Amino acid sequence: MPDQPITQQSGFSFFQRERILEELAGGQFDVVIIGGGITGAGIALDAASRGLKTALIEKGDFAGGTSSRSTKLIHGGLRYLKQLQFHVVAETGRERAVVHRLAPHLVVPRKMMLPVLKNGSMGKGMIWMGLTMYDLLAGVRGDDRRRMLSKEETLQKVPLLPEEKVKGSGYYAEYMTDDARLTIEVVKTAVRHGARVINYTEVTDLLYDEKGKISGVHCTDHIEGRTLTVQGRFVVNAAGPWVDDLRRKDNSLKGKHLFITKGVHLVFNKETFPLDNPIYFDIPDGRMLFLIPRHGITYAGTTDTPYTGDKDDPPVLKEDVDYILNAIRYLFPSLPLEEKDVLSSWAGIRPLIYEEGKSASEISRRDEIFVSEHGLISMAGGKLTGYRKMAEDVVDKIVKMGGWREKKHCLTKDIPLTDHPFSGVEEVLSFTRALQNGTGGFPDHEVAEMVMKYGRIAEELLAAARESGQKPVIAEAEYALDHEMVWKPLDFLERRSGRLLFDLAGVQEELDGILEIFATRHGWDKERLKKEKETVEKRIREITPPFTSLQG
Ligand code: FAD
Repeated sequence: MPDQPITQQSGFSFFQRERILEELAGGQFDVVIIGGGITGAGIALDAASRGLKTALIEKGDFAGGTSSRSTKLIHGGLRYLKQLQFHVVAETGRERAVVHRLAPHLVVPRKMMLPVLKNGSMGKGMIWMGLTMYDLLAGVRGDDRRRMLSKEETLQKVPLLPEEKVKGSGYYAEYMTDDARLTIEVVKTAVRHGARVINYTEVTDLLYDEKGKISGVHCTDHIEGRTLTVQGRFVVNAAGPWVDDLRRKDNSLKGKHLFITKGVHLVFNKETFPLDNPIYFDIPDGRMLFLIPRHGITYAGTTDTPYTGDKDDPPVLKEDVDYILNAIRYLFPSLPLEEKDVLSSWAGIRPLIYEEGKSASEISRRDEIFVSEHGLISMAGGKLTGYRKMAEDVVDKIVKMGGWREKKHCLTKDIPLTDHPFSGVEEVLSFTRALQNGTGGFPDHEVAEMVMKYGRIAEELLAAARESGQKPVIAEAEYALDHEMVWKPLDFLERRSGRLLFDLAGVQEELDGILEIFATRHGWDKERLKKEKETVEKRIREITPPFTSLQG
């Protein structure tokens, strides 16, 4: 454990905005990165750790785009096997192992079940062959290697499955994460390596030198409304679904372009949807769906439909909810799930690279770097899972173009994503068990969730909650304000703590207390507090039933 309690150390906080903005405006950076999702965060960490002077600028909150709205898995890339992209399976398998090693509390192995169903599209032989190839290509080791389960073993693990429909299952390892927490941890690690990072600041224009070469960005700070210029030798466009908007500003949106699809997830109470083992199953339309239990809840997703609406706020529609509910009913005909059982939900948009003649779910999830004639470097496509390797590829390119030979080695394979790392899964488990057996009296699932989100810091947060007699969410809010650059209550509720998605009832119970902390710290008056509460309540209405239908 660190000498000084982490919660008392000075951190990366909103209250340092002024200083950071001044440093951004006054600095000449080697690399300026646009976008604070996992892609931009990964690039910032890679560049800063190689000693490049790095700036990262995010228009909203970190992970406010796609990087808080995924299925939250660090995939081994099984779906790429179906698309015969063997090198992608191999690479994602390797990356999965690296990211797990860097944050074993936050990238957690879970055994995934692939049920073999009567009349299903995947037979036992096909699943066995697929998983065997997957193990070989992805370099899967030890306990993570696939097994085939008999019908009896399958039903023992998931008693909800209909006996008459199940013939057995494949059993293999996936890794569960919290995408928004992974992003903020990468951001914080980049800051520890010297990157200057700011949120709620939008890049509105690109700047060019007299030769027409990109030389920086012009931004607007959305909190104070002021504008600033940040100079950079290289500018990286890591704007996810907004990548083409910036390429358009650069006058370089030619040839390949993005194709955006929407994916929705639904969250259910563990009592209404009792599942202990994650499942990945094929549905009659040929797509596959995940069902994932996570500390006290079960979530299901995802849909995959072309999307052209508001990129900042993709909605969860009744049609999306019906699609997922129908898929769940197909696997579990006896489970009486309805729209009203949805506890909360989220919708995300995938920035895919368009491929002529392919449907949404057939398009590859591969990443690609485009360098425009003016020098704008755009990173398009990709996955949460591959963020570290994508960053390495971009920074390798920058180092080469910049002639920085001494910085050619990527270091991020060995940079843990926390100041206080665990040695591995075993240590995470024993740490969690010790906290669960401690004197706090908090439910086991809440303790496990806290360790997943905060690692060793969970111990301090739970101790603070115990001493004050308040719920852990209050200590979390204080921590987020001091150490994780939150501005609005929703930054904390949705992305730092994930509680709006996974503990909505708890949030509703403690909302006034949480808002009070924000009001005190920010000096908000009653009017402002009321407005913030309305914003949170509006968000809750959007992610809970009844959902709006496309048909009106
Ligand atoms: P984003 O997270 O969207 O970040 C881009 C950022 O750029 C945004 O925060 C935006 O505000 C900012 N920005 C845009 N314009 C500007 C500007 N002008 N100035 C400043 N900032 C700007 N991958 C996996 O590996 N595992 C999964 O389980 C998985 N599941 C998925 C499920 C769904 C439904 C979806 C949609 C995706 C899933 N993915 C998954 C893919 C993964 O989530 C994305 O590839 C990844 O999050 C993209 O990150 P990004 O940083 O490129 O984009």
